[in-house]
Parts: sequence; structure tokens; C-alpha cells
Amino acid sequence: MYPGSFDYQRPQTLQEAVRLLGTSQGDARILAGGMSLIPLLKSRLVSIPTLIDIGRIDELRKIGNTEKSVTIGSMVTDHEIENSRIIGDRFPLIREVSRWIGDPQVRNRGTMGGSLCHADPSGDWGACFIALRGKAHVEGPNGSREIDSDSFFTGPFSTSVDISEILTAIEFHDIDGMVGSAYEKIERKAGDFATVGVAVQISIDEKGNCTYAGIGLTSVSASPVRAAKAEKELYGKVLTMRNIESAALAASHECDPTDDPLRGSADFKRYLVNVCAKRALIRAVKEAGGVL
Ligand SMILES: Cc1cc2nc3c(=O)[nH]c(=O)nc-3n(C[C@H](O)[C@H](O)[C@H](O)COP(=O)(O)OP(=O)(O)OC[C@H]3O[C@@H](n4cnc5c(N)ncnc54)[C@H](O)[C@@H]3O)c2cc1C
Repeated sequence: MYPGSFDYQRPQTLQEAVRLLGTSQGDARILAGGMSLIPLLKSRLVSIPTLIDIGRIDELRKIGNTEKSVTIGSMVTDHEIENSRIIGDRFPLIREVSRWIGDPQVRNRGTMGGSLCHADPSGDWGACFIALRGKAHVEGPNGSREIDSDSFFTGPFSTSVDISEILTAIEFHDIDGMVGSAYEKIERKAGDFATVGVAVQISIDEKGNCTYAGIGLTSVSASPVRAAKAEKELYGKVLTMRNIESAALAASHECDPTDDPLRGSADFKRYLVNVCAKRALIRAVKEAGGVL
């Protein structure tokens, strides 16, 4: 199908994009990679009077690398993320997750920024953003602000980024200690959205105590969520198989999956969360140099 007609704006600067969004009185939407928005327009599930294409704004395409953090511009594509040594060396979890998004065609255009703003309850980036406690930088008519990963998602396809704001970048701070991470995703077929996805980032000190635990779940709640009780099962403790199993079980209890005819029952998904969390934690602990 063809989309309904819409106005198309292609600003060259962030200021111009913010101004256009502000003057549209809620009628305009940002167009990033278009991997989610264009199918919605073509199937006429949504109709949008004005699209503001931010693809020509150079400052949104940058990967920032400081001593303490890496910042990924909102127009950096999944493909660029997958192939960035800066990102992959400092945050192997981000590189691992990037390889699970759709297929090469989708990754060539889709962006982490677009995926987070789209807020699909099954989006892979959401789980990673939560596990790493990322920060979203947004710019709007009242200036810039930061949104932490725990307040970013507000429900299915809904975030705390205001309709007049643009997500400009996502920042990930380094985590001290010996770190390890893993993403475990179950999908029906290659390139599919997750039936269940579990992203894990941990850190241990020289005595083996857990000094950081981040666990993000996707496809098992109204939006990607933190497995906070599971994290508590790990934090401050020496990581053993027993507390990994307790944490995985806790994760499976604190999500809220639904029965669905394509991907299985809620009970099945809870079971998968347990399995995936356990697998991801074992991999992460081993990567960090822990002994199980
Ligand atoms: C065949 C196919 C398979 C896929 N498989 C997966 C998968 O396995 N896992 C997965 O997680 N995703 C998957 N996706 C979705 C993919 O990750 C999309 O790229 C992503 O959801 C949207 O990113 P985008 O840059 O294309 O954003 P767009 O489609 O351009 O925008 C999406 C929404 O976010 C808003 N938006 C975008 N950027 C900004 C910004 N900077 N500031 C404010 N609002 C913004 C837009 O207005 C729109 O509402 C798949 C998509 C397709 C088509």
C-alpha cells in the first residue's frame, strides 16, 4: 500500500529540526531510518501530516568517545554500531545486541535512537539500554535534558520523550571492575523480533564480588523492563551457580508476559526468561573472569 500524503522537511541542523517540530503543534514526527515508521505509514496504521527527516544532521551521526563514556548519536545506524571498534571494545553487549536486529537491510538504515523512541515492547535495544543504565539526551524547545533508562519507557510504543523533543544521543558510562556481558534472544526464525530477550551486564571485583548487575528483559512486559529483583540477588555477592539460578528465577517472576498465538503462552515465555537469564549470566560471569 502507499502511505497517505504528507509534508516532508529535511532540516540541516538540530536547531532547525527542533524549531520545525515546535511549530508543527504536534502534527509532525521525526523520520530516522524509517524501518518502523514507513511500514506504519504504508499500512495506513498511522497518518502523519508532516515528516521531519533528521538524516542530514551531521551532529546526530557521531560516535563520541570520552574517558568515561561512549555516546552514540541518534542517527548512527545499527550497522555502524555493529562495526564500530570504539563501541565494541568498550561495550561488547552493544555489539552483540546489534547483530540480533532484523537483517543487514534493516541494520543499514535502522538506528538505536529510532528503536528506543519507537518503544516496541519487543525491541532488542531497550533491554540493552536498561542493562547498561544508558542515558538518553534529548533536545526540545526548552533546551536539552537527560532521561535515564528507568524512566525512558512509559508503556507500549510510548516514552517520556515529549512530542516536541528529539532524541539526540544515547550515552553509556563505563562500568568499573572486571566486566562481562551477554544477550540471549529466542526468536521463531532468523531476523524475527524476540519471543524473549535477556541482556546482562555484570562486573566483579578482585575478590569475585558482584559490583554491578544490570539485567534488561524484552518482549515480556508492556515495554522493555529492568529485572530489579534479579539484580539484587547478585549485587554485592560472590557469583555462584546457586545465586545465578536464584536471579534467573527472580527475573522470570518479575516480568509480565502475555499469551500470544505466534510466540507462545505467558508460562512458556516465563520459562524462557529463566533459561535465557541463566545462560546470559553464566556467559557474563565467565567473560568477567569469575569462577563458577
Ligand atoms: C523486517 C524488520 C525486522 C526487524 N527486526 C527487528 C528486530 O529483530 N529487533 C528489533 O529490535 N527491531 C527490529 N526491527 C525494527 C528496527 O529496529 C527499527 O529500525 C527501529 O524500530 C526503528 O528505528 P528507525 O531508525 O528506523 O526509526 P523510524 O522508523 O524512523 O522511527 C521510529 C519512531 O521513532 C521516532 N523517532 C525516531 N528517531 C527519533 C529521534 N531521534 N527523536 C525522536 N523521535 C524519533 C519516529 O518519529 C517514529 O515514531 C525490524 C524492522 C523491520 C522492518
